[in-house]
Amino acid sequence: MTLSKFHEIARALREYQRFAVLSHVRPDGDALGSQLAMGLALRELGKDVAIWNEDGMLQKYAFIPRAELLSKPPSEPQDFDVILALDTAIQNRLGTAGEAARASKLCINISHHPSNPGYGDLVYIEPDAPATGQILFELIKSEGLPFNRDIAENLYVAISTDTGSFQYPNTTARTLEIAAELVRTGVNVGEVSQRLYENYPRRRIELLRELLGTMRFGADGKIASFSLSLDCAQRLGVLPEDNEGLIDHLRAISGVIVAVFFEELPEGKVRVSMRSKDEAADVCAICKQFGGGGHTLAAGARVKGTLREVEERVLRAVNDTIAAIP
Ligand code: 5GP
Ligand code: MN
Repeated sequence: MTLSKFHEIARALREYQRFAVLSHVRPDGDALGSQLAMGLALRELGKDVAIWNEDGMLQKYAFIPRAELLSKPPSEPQDFDVILALDTAIQNRLGTAGEAARASKLCINISHHPSNPGYGDLVYIEPDAPATGQILFELIKSEGLPFNRDIAENLYVAISTDTGSFQYPNTTARTLEIAAELVRTGVNVGEVSQRLYENYPRRRIELLRELLGTMRFGADGKIASFSLSLDCAQRLGVLPEDNEGLIDHLRAISGVIVAVFFEELPEGKVRVSMRSKDEAADVCAICKQFGGGGHTLAAGARVKGTLREVEERVLRAVNDTIAAIP
């Protein structure tokens, strides 16, 4: 099943000429690394490739090989044979990049989100894969697609960031074998890790200090949350990318099962980010109640309302889930 799907995808990659390689808004390392890895493989095949993300390349990932190839989409739509949507749980999370790319032949959807409804013409979703980058490695290797050091480093960044640096439970022996293969191809673990995890702007830690000031606990310490108001974000000059991973400080607390991060957005909405340490507390199911999705242990949603209202409603739903665990 996997192989025949991989054959079909690889056949399309070889057959067509014009590709748009896209991923989700507010991209993370898996999104950007996957886009560049796939974009580079396609370029090696001699294809015309656009690599677009609504947010463009984030400053913190600007070191990844060939980062300059990834850009914001143009305002006028363009035509392609194939759109590749990577790491994107639901089509509208492609944002303006999805609006700018029109596919005349195929839309290929490759992700690892159980909540992915299977949009597109050629769909490969592997919910157990810890990162889209891991799926792409398997695709490239099993189909003999182009592979080199730059592709390897992009895949390494994708897998390292989406596994919390090889710590989350979906990190399997296979994940570590793939990492080993990427290192053999020339990835320098110490150097990449330092750039990923020891190179934060001071702003991010100032933000963390503010967030810890709003920290709250519920359900006997099984729920921990903190919130970022627009006021605070503006005062500190926070960039959206600054808060990626800060929620891990809540998850890391002993006794905490569900961690929640609330971020007030300008358009009267709140971005909710959730992490769980227990499969029985399925945060994807909770986020689906609010129109979001993701994975069992990591999910999110954008919810209409004020910060206070959304905190109240969402924390009540988390409480109900925790209370239902035997
Ligand atoms: P994060 O908390 O890092 O933003 O997102 C965690 C996971 O939840 C990611 O895999 C992401 O795809 C998913 N996710 C985050 N926000 C949303 C959302 O608004 N809608 C959906 N469907 N998934 C989301
Ligand atoms: Mn991912």
